[in-house]
Amino acid sequence: MRSSCMLCWCASSASVAEAAAAAAAGPKSLSKRLDLRDVHISVALMNDFLHYAANNTRRGVESCGILAGRLSASDSRFTITTLIVPKQTGTSDTVEMLGEEEVWEAESSRELVPLGWIHTHPTQTCFLSSVDIHTQCGYQTMLEESVAIVMAPTDSRKKCGIFRLTTPAGLEHVQRCTYRGFHASCNSEMYELCGHVYLNPNAKHEVIDLR
Ligand SMILES: [Zn+2]
Ligand SMILES: [Zn+2]
Repeated sequence: MRSSCMLCWCASSASVAEAAAAAAAGPKSLSKRLDLRDVHISVALMNDFLHYAANNTRRGVESCGILAGRLSASDSRFTITTLIVPKQTGTSDTVEMLGEEEVWEAESSRELVPLGWIHTHPTQTCFLSSVDIHTQCGYQTMLEESVAIVMAPTDSRKKCGIFRLTTPAGLEHVQRCTYRGFHASCNSEMYELCGHVYLNPNAKHEVIDLR
C-alpha cells in the first residue's frame, strides 16, 4: 500500500523516516502506534490540493483544506475520501478557515467524519508552527487519529509532511497551553511524523470547494 507521490518528498513511509532523520530541527520519531487505527489517504488528493491552492501559492499566501472520510465496516481503518476546501483567509504564515457551519453540513450530509487538515507553506519550510500545533490540537482532541498535512513546495528537503501531536505528552501540553498566536513553547518537541498513515495510489477521492 505504500507508494510514490509525484510531488511529495513524503513519497513513502521510508522516505518520511529519511526526511525526519535529515531534519535535525524537526520531529524525531516515526513510530507505528498499535493503539492508533490506520488512516489511508489518496496520493492524488494531496496533489489535487496543491492545484486548488495554486492561486494563493503563487502570491505567497497559505491555503487550507479539511480532510474527511469514513471508518471501515470493521472499524479498523479510516480512509480519507474527501477534500473540503472551505472559505478561508490566509497570509504568508497563517491561514484561517471561515464558514465552519458550511463545512460541518458538507460532512454530515455525506456521513463523513473530520480526519484532519492540510495546508500549504508557500514560502516556508515543512513544519508545524505553534499556531498550526494549536489547530491540530483541536482535531486530535476530537479524534486521536487526526492528521496535519503540510505541503511546502519551496522546501527542497521536504515538500510534504504528515504530522500529529505526540501522545500523551505533546497533546496534553498544548491542551493546557493558554498562549495564542506564535509562541516558542509549542515547538517541534510537541509533534511527530505519523506512523499510522498509508498512502494509497488507487484510492478515489472527491473535492468539495466551498469558496
Ligand atoms: Zn503552517
Ligand atoms: Zn501553545
